[in-house]
Formats: sequence, structure tokens, C-alpha cells
Amino acid sequence: MPHGKTEFEEISPADFFYRYRDIAGFSNPARAIFSAIRELVENSLDACEVRGILPDIYLRLSLEEEHDDVFVYRLRIEDNGSGVPGEHIPKAFGQVLYGSKYRLIQSRGMFGLGGAMAILYGQITTHKPVFVMSSTGDGDIHKYSLMIDIKNNKPVILSHEEEENRDGWHGTVIEFCLEGDYSKACPKILEYLKQTALVNPYANITFVDPRGRLYRFLRATTEMPPPPKETRPHPRGVDVEMVRRMIAEAGEGTLKDFLVKNFQRVGPRTAEKFLEFAGFDPEGDPRSLGPEEVVRLVRAMREFKGFIAPDASCLSPLGPELLEAGVKKELKPEFVAVCQRRPSAYGGHPFIVEVAIAYGGQVPSPRSGKITLLRFANRIPLLYDEASDVSRKIIDEINWRRYRVTPDMPVAVVVHICSTRVPYKTVGKEFIADRPEVRHEITQAIREVARKLQVYLARKERKHVAMKRFSVFKRYLPMIAEFSAKLAGKPRPDVRPLLDKVRESFIQEEMDSGEEVEENIM
Ligand code: ADP
Ligand code: MG
Repeated sequence: MPHGKTEFEEISPADFFYRYRDIAGFSNPARAIFSAIRELVENSLDACEVRGILPDIYLRLSLEEEHDDVFVYRLRIEDNGSGVPGEHIPKAFGQVLYGSKYRLIQSRGMFGLGGAMAILYGQITTHKPVFVMSSTGDGDIHKYSLMIDIKNNKPVILSHEEEENRDGWHGTVIEFCLEGDYSKACPKILEYLKQTALVNPYANITFVDPRGRLYRFLRATTEMPPPPKETRPHPRGVDVEMVRRMIAEAGEGTLKDFLVKNFQRVGPRTAEKFLEFAGFDPEGDPRSLGPEEVVRLVRAMREFKGFIAPDASCLSPLGPELLEAGVKKELKPEFVAVCQRRPSAYGGHPFIVEVAIAYGGQVPSPRSGKITLLRFANRIPLLYDEASDVSRKIIDEINWRRYRVTPDMPVAVVVHICSTRVPYKTVGKEFIADRPEVRHEITQAIREVARKLQVYLARKERKHVAMKRFSVFKRYLPMIAEFSAKLAGKPRPDVRPLLDKVRESFIQEEMDSGEEVEENIM
């Protein structure tokens, strides 16, 4: 380049993510293999849920080649989901930022990035094609061998075959090679699968690892949460660009009709009130609005107090029963309490927080004196950057002794947030940003389940005290009985019925004396 001359160039989205793969979670071989598995599992779960199919997912990771300290693995995933229509397969897997989840509906995928990114990573580390086989069930089975033209962000089809689908199979099989470090990634991968099984208790997940070990996570229920419905945007959840696009697509009609038709929570009366507030003519034509007017309209939407909160029917929380079933299945706790908050919203995006607290059983005792936290968003476990997550901050701020929880206790808090727009901080989807509305809901939910745990722990402790008092009686009563019987010249009496009675009354006494104390602590 001649000195002093600036050269400009353009790069494609695939090229961008090739250069900055760290931001999508593919920073090193250990992390990459974790992210690849995670993205593919999430796609499979999404693909089952859109059709209300109970997920059956099979994952296999095997060592393909090894030289020096470079390990190449072959990753295969099979699911029984919706499948991908033949004509979309090349782009869905061979093009970054191509997807079916840009709609306003809760799903795990968001950006059209995850699966394609895993495949792209495989290609740049091994230069081998990906194999994809898929069918929607009502057509042929398509088999593709693909590579990504990274410079142009386009799929390259190496081969394509169609096969008759005799038994109506639906699902997707993906197989490709990638560099990785399984020995390092193994604990995170297993933790990821375990937590995925917890928050998707209706899924069967099988994993065969490179060491030939088989891990199976079996469903504990055939109940699935009701599917979410797609919604129109809420007036507080749009920006200028979005409204401009909506206007461009709008047909004939007045401004009032435009609002009623394109937004949720806006009926004719609300539209009139809003337009009066914003200073627009309800009978005007939206297509004649100038750029400044669109900006003014959108600003007024943010300021207007008359819209009711966003509709939460586009969300699909797990619900208290399924959350409890999941926690019981994977943590086998001695005690569990769950809480589902009512829908709330931030910036026009609805969200729901669900929290569980588990104690004892297989709940691990905390490392580093911190309460174990399991974080989930749209039924995805979040395993990285815990320290930055709003839930971690909230838990660390709570005075747990108030709830009789001490730092050594096996207590786990499970936080699940679902939203059409989860407030992630990064495209790697690792942690939830600290937004006041979200913080409020999570705090309230944790407090509620913590109070339930407190009641349980208080009862447990009182029972313990009663049993301790009772053990003294148990030791001495037979001796006293024997001694008195000897004195009176009678045979030794059977003291067991009496002991049972005494034990019951001790426990009862402790329980009764405890109730008021509990109220005071709360
Ligand atoms: P995202 O999940 O964010 O949309 P991906 O790159 O992971 O992006 O996937 C791109 C698209 O490919 C998805 O939107 C979906 O339509 C389709 N897809 C990926 N995996 C599967 C699968 N296992 N079953 C059905 N469709 C899939
Ligand atoms: Mg995805």
C-alpha cells in the first residue's frame, strides 16, 4: 500500500465472524467444542418445540485425528424435530445470519448464527465439508454435503441427493469435524447437558463421548409447556427503523388504522388518545409522514402512559410443575420450592421470571462460600460469565442468614427468564444484563422461595431439637422403669409404647412453640 493512502474494503458477515469468532463463543478449542454442542442442541430443541414434538436428541463426539497437541473431533447430532425444507438447507447451514427465528416469538436461537457458526468453525479448523440430512416428514429426505464460501457468505453445495421418505421420518442429522479440546471442555459439556435436562424435563438426550462413555438424560414427563404465540410489537418496543419498515409495508389506510393493525395492545380508542397526545391527525396517511415526523411518533410512543403492558402470550415459561419436576429429576433435593412471577416488561419487551430453590439431596455444597446458582434463559443454561449476571449480584446482596441459610449449606437457586428479547449482553448469550425491571422480578421471586426454604429449615431444626431432648429420655426411661419394677417386685415393663408417645409429644411441642418465632423472623 503506498504510504499515506487509505484503502477500503468490504467484508461479509461470515468473514466478520471468521475474524471475530470470540464474540460468538468460539475463542479456543475447549470453548469452541462446548459452543458447537450447545448451539446444535439448542437448534434441535427449538425444532422440536415449534411442532410440539417431545425431543429425542442423540449426540456423538468421536476423536477423528490427533497430531501433536491438536485434536480433531467428529460431531454428529440427530433430532426428531421439524426438519428443514430441502431448499432452505444450504443457506440455513452454509450462511451466517440466515434463519427462521427473527420473529417476535420466544425461541433459543435469535441471530441465525449459532449452528452456522459451529459449522464455520469446523471448516476453518479442518477444511472438511458438513453433512446434513433432513426431512420435514411430508416430503423427501434431503442429503447435502456443504461448505461455506466465507468471503461471500454463501453456501457451496458439493453434493445433493433426494431419497424417498417411506415412513414419514422428520428430523435433522448434522455431522462435521472440528478442532477441539474435549478433555478440557468435558466438565462444562456434561454440566451443560445436565442443566439442559433440568430445564427441558420433557426431552431425552443421549451423549456418547470420545472416551466411549454413554450419558443419558431421560425425560421425567411427557408434558410440554404450551407453545408460544407470535405477536405484533408493542409500541414501546419499536424504534424508528422498525416503524419506517412497517409503514413501507402498510397498505392503504389512516394512521389510526395503521396503529391498530400493526401493534399489540392498541385498539381504536387507545390509538385516538395516543395520536391526540402525540399531536397527529388520526385520519392522516402514515405513508406521507416525513422522517422527522416518524421520529416524533416513535418518541411519543415511549412517553405515552396509556398503553397497557405487553402481551405475554408470545412467551412460553416452563411453569411451576415442570420446573419442579426438572429440579427433582436432576438434583434429587430434600426440599424444593418454586415461584413463577407474573409477566413484566422492559422497554416494550415482555418477560417472565421463574425461580426455584433446592436444598439437600444431590445439591452440591457451595464452592468458595457462594450459593450455587443455575441460570437459564429461554430454557438455555448459561454457564459462562456468572459474575457479571444480574442474578449472581442479587444473590450476593441478599442476607441469607435471615432465611436460616448458612454459607456451607447445600442450597441451589435456579433462575429462569424467558422473553422475546432476553437482555443478553453479548451474542455469545452468556449473561443477563442488570436492568431495573428484570432485577426487581428476580429479587422478588428469590425472596419468595427463600422464605419457603426458611420455613422448612426452621421446622427441620425444631424437629432436630425435639429429637435431641427425646434421646435423653430414651436413654434413661428404660433404666428408670427397670429400677422401679425391681423395687416394686414386678416384671420389667415394655416401655416402647410410652417412648413413642413421648417422642410424638416432644415433636408436637417444638413445632407449636416455633410457629410464632417464624412469623417474627419474616
Ligand atoms: P438461529 O438458531 O439463531 O436461527 P442457526 O444458525 O443456529 O440460527 O440456525 C439457522 C436456521 O436453521 C434456524 O433458524 C432454523 O430455521 C434452521 N435449523 C437449524 N438447525 C435445525 C434443526 N436441527 N432442525 C430444524 N431446523 C434447524
Ligand atoms: Mg441456533
